[in-house]
Amino acid sequence: MNTLVKRPDNKGFFGEYGGSFLPPDLQPVMDEITKTYEEISKSPDFQGELTALYQDYVGRPSPIFYARNLSKKVGGAQIYMKREDLNHTGAHKINHCLGEVLLAKKMGKKKVIAETGAGQHGVALATAAALLGLECDIYMGEVDIIKEHPNVIRMKILGAKVIPVSSGLKTLKEAVDEAFTAYVQDTVTQFYAIGSVVGPHPFPMMVRDFQTIVGIEAKKQFAASPGGLPNNLMACVGGGSNAIGLFTAFMDDESVKMYGVEPSGIGFKDGEHAATMTLGKPGIIHGFKCLLLQDDEGNPLPVYSVASGLDYPGVGPEHSYLKGIERVQYTTINDKEAIDAFFELSREEGIIPAMESAHAIAYAIKLAAELPKEETILMNLSGRGDKDIDFITEHYGKEYGID
Ligand SMILES: *Cc1c(COP(=O)(O)O)cnc(C)c1O
Repeated sequence: MNTLVKRPDNKGFFGEYGGSFLPPDLQPVMDEITKTYEEISKSPDFQGELTALYQDYVGRPSPIFYARNLSKKVGGAQIYMKREDLNHTGAHKINHCLGEVLLAKKMGKKKVIAETGAGQHGVALATAAALLGLECDIYMGEVDIIKEHPNVIRMKILGAKVIPVSSGLKTLKEAVDEAFTAYVQDTVTQFYAIGSVVGPHPFPMMVRDFQTIVGIEAKKQFAASPGGLPNNLMACVGGGSNAIGLFTAFMDDESVKMYGVEPSGIGFKDGEHAATMTLGKPGIIHGFKCLLLQDDEGNPLPVYSVASGLDYPGVGPEHSYLKGIERVQYTTINDKEAIDAFFELSREEGIIPAMESAHAIAYAIKLAAELPKEETILMNLSGRGDKDIDFITEHYGKEYGID
């Protein structure tokens, strides 16, 4: 794992963000996970097993692709893409799901539990659980179960149990509540596998560590090209795992600028976006402190984006910290710009990106146009767009010549 970054502190804080804000009876459980993670993850045995899985199962290293056509069309900086979309299961999430399930297995757990919104985390976790022989329970709102039918089927084919949640609005927030309730009932045989660099310590650190492979590979791969280091890094930010995965290995390279891209959806009023880094204030959600879109009482606000993997009212504590120290700049892209970029990449390079990744592409195009030809942008193409094609063509197809 990456040893360059000495964050968080031993209580899980990145500056003022992070930590663990849990009911007192749960804290010992988190402490045990932290302790075991520190021991196990550094063992050659664990590292070797995970590295082998990354290579032979995920298909790592993922290539870096020079988007020649797109760069030429834009006429500015040269755009490169780290192809996490080519991973088994089609996105970066498998990197941390394998790490978490392997850890759960080494800890002697029998089952992994998680919630899922659009089903991407659920599918990646069900995949890792199938491979490593653990049971898998996925909590999912009834509304999402109808919307995301193909992913529900995938999880079931993979042998996971999909548990419908019928309380409240029947979406992600209620699924988190029920998954958590189920977890608390048995923390001995179950492991709660969080889907991004969020949640109480040690999860933001652990998920980051599992994702740093992305930046470590990218740095090696890029070393062969002119200049050796990219001038700019870019990634979309939901919880922030694919972004931190790319950024971490370059954190100490001062010449490398970094950009995180959030969704501004259909506007900047409450409920129209999920621009947490841009409009959030420090607050607590799901057991940790971060920038948070919240009302006057500190309750999370409703969020929206055309990319369901980006619509979370909180964000990873390390991102909140990196904004404060100005190591990373955070910016927004709206639905329309992301959909344009989705078609642009499809038609210029023959790559259909995930709608989440399309936010990073849109900003890469914008920034490239302002920069000289000698500069480079390396963006994380976090996932492929197969999951999005029905929704996009149904709602936006006509505008782009699909009837
Ligand atoms: C889930 C997801 C994201 C957002 O999650 P992060 O933790 O911010 O990376 C981005 N891209 C894809 C393809 C996803 O599935």
